[in-house]
Amino acid sequence: MSDPSGPILEAPPGQAGGVAAVAAALPITTWIFDLDNTLYPGGSQLWPQIDLRITLFLSNFFGLDGLSARALQKHYYYRYGTTLNGLMAEHGIDPHPYLEFAHDIDLATLDPDPALGHAIAALPGRKLIFTNGSRRHASNVTKKLGFEEHFEAVFDIVDAEFIPKPHQVTYQRFLAQHEIEPHKAIMFEDLAKNLEVPHQLGMKTVLVLPKQHDPFRESFEQKAEVADYIHHSTDDLAGFLRRIVAPHDRS
Ligand SMILES: [Mg+2]
Repeated sequence: MSDPSGPILEAPPGQAGGVAAVAAALPITTWIFDLDNTLYPGGSQLWPQIDLRITLFLSNFFGLDGLSARALQKHYYYRYGTTLNGLMAEHGIDPHPYLEFAHDIDLATLDPDPALGHAIAALPGRKLIFTNGSRRHASNVTKKLGFEEHFEAVFDIVDAEFIPKPHQVTYQRFLAQHEIEPHKAIMFEDLAKNLEVPHQLGMKTVLVLPKQHDPFRESFEQKAEVADYIHHSTDDLAGFLRRIVAPHDRS
């Protein structure tokens, strides 16, 4: 990312044009969004709550103090990609009560986002959510944000048979289940590592960056990555979407 006050769009190396070029060059018919920290900003304090609920789950499940539960959580995250996968692999837990517990959070800090809702509504084509979280969480969050009805479907961690992004098989399962042609799709994500496979499969990719550093999340997850599999990056998703539909609108 360059000057934050300047244009937020970055053309991939060797290619001209920003977001207008995306719209012009591609018949994008399917718009795919990650949920957490993509459709709402990290500052909404949702992820810290989920993060703490996961720690609490581990603490209750194993009878651990908070620090030990936290260390185990980090261990599972690095080793298995998610805490749930660690719990399933090493302890064979039932994922459903875990997901209910982890996502049982207070959404009072999440403000409706009509600007993003209008921008999503104006996109031509299908819109889907592809999350490592649960369908119920996606529904609660998008309802509170005020734009649940714009999405055709949610593909969640249960649909993914508990194999989270960025495993390739999960993207393939998602695309097949919803009959999506990857060459006509674009994916929005806050985690750079989750965009590598979409790029390999032929999708356009957009990294959604936080406006501010979130101390509750890993620093490496918040870096403005520059990689050939990231076609664009933005810290203003609603503005980015508006300019795809109306490239000359700079408001
Ligand atoms: Mg996310």
